[in-house]
Amino acid sequence: MKIVKGFRDILPYGNKNNESSFIWGSITDQLKRIMSSFNYEEIITPVVEYDSTFKKGIGEDTDIVSKEMYEFVLERDSSLPEGSQKYCLRPEGTAPIVRSVIENSLNKVKSINKLFYLGPMFRYERSQKGRYRMFHQIGAELIGSDQILYEVEMLEMAHKILKTLEIKRFSFQINSIGNQKSLNNIAEAVRIFVKKHKNTIEDNDYKILEKNPLRFLDKAIHKYEFDNIPKTVDYLDKKSLKRFNELIKILDNIKFPYQINNQLVRGIDYYNDLVFEATSKDLGAQDALLAGGRYDTLFEKFNKSETSSIGFAAGVERLILASNNNNLKNSLDFYIIFKEEDLVQDSLILAFKLRDLGFKVEIDLEKRSFIKQIKLADKSNAKRSIIISKNDFKKSDVTIKDMNSGEEKIINIRNNFQFFIELNKVESNA
Ligand code: AMP
Repeated sequence: MKIVKGFRDILPYGNKNNESSFIWGSITDQLKRIMSSFNYEEIITPVVEYDSTFKKGIGEDTDIVSKEMYEFVLERDSSLPEGSQKYCLRPEGTAPIVRSVIENSLNKVKSINKLFYLGPMFRYERSQKGRYRMFHQIGAELIGSDQILYEVEMLEMAHKILKTLEIKRFSFQINSIGNQKSLNNIAEAVRIFVKKHKNTIEDNDYKILEKNPLRFLDKAIHKYEFDNIPKTVDYLDKKSLKRFNELIKILDNIKFPYQINNQLVRGIDYYNDLVFEATSKDLGAQDALLAGGRYDTLFEKFNKSETSSIGFAAGVERLILASNNNNLKNSLDFYIIFKEEDLVQDSLILAFKLRDLGFKVEIDLEKRSFIKQIKLADKSNAKRSIIISKNDFKKSDVTIKDMNSGEEKIINIRNNFQFFIELNKVESNA
């Protein structure tokens, strides 16, 4: 038996951060708290969708849809007529959320929806470090407003993720690609420009150019050392340019750490105006941490009226790989050790009471020897051990040992656990 290529197990004893379920849980909790602090609310959609959600939403000739999507039909449906709906494992989060907002009329409940999601995505890509066929994204969608201040807020939220995870060597790039007309103009300028250099360009890349010059700008242009590549800013419509300048002014005012990248366009069809991306030098070849932008026309692709929206998605595996937060330790609060075997039940009751208070507690129920239990406690990563012996326990006394300093003190547990209640208060505020 073998795990499927490009898929990963995340394990309780994973050595590296990226393989540890404890780190995974701690970091995803942090990420959700950040979203929640901006009052974004969680939306949970299925991992399986009809393929049309992405074909309409993302565009049929994008890599994601044309090459990377896991599509399937059930064997018993395989004789359905050509062109019937297929299922697919979602390759991204935005199109399903727009599908869900429309289907559940969320935009009638609130005129502005602030939504976030966290879950697995599936893309049949060549797997390598930081690139998997099943990976996780945390993403946010602001649906129903074209306010620039919501863009600022969203950029700040994305930045907060990088700050909280102590990702140090990152670059945050923004750009405006304007409206559809500006995009067509940019595409045409890139096509004309690159054609002049045809003899220096690899055949495969030239094919990309002919099919979609923006995709060439997105994927291939950095391979060639061209001077004077067309800049998106020179092709923007007036309104888009004004918006972008306003955004930049606010970002400067709040000292947001951005760089303008006039070659930044995104690989998905639905974006307009603002696009952004954060990358990290610590990640190697797959350096993109998060990416997003404004997508005012996506609802129209689902036959609904234009609905101004912005969103971004961050790859959770890559955030964890790039994180420098080394303070997340999976430690026990107490390891309970009983000196004499007939104290095991009293010790277990003490463990239950401490767990009720919210502490993380381990006790060896194999009833191994006192010495063996001490060794287990030493190895366990516990902050403290509690030693229970018959003599002390007659007086309701137990010994608490700080495993770091070795310091011991005797505590009486008759008086309603005051000591533990106080300790819990201190530690949960720490
Ligand atoms: P995208 O939806 O392509 O804009 O991707 C958004 C983020 O998801 C990227 O910046 C990456 O952090 C992450 N990501 C995309 N594809 C993969 C993958 N195959 N494996 C791991 N992370 C990915």
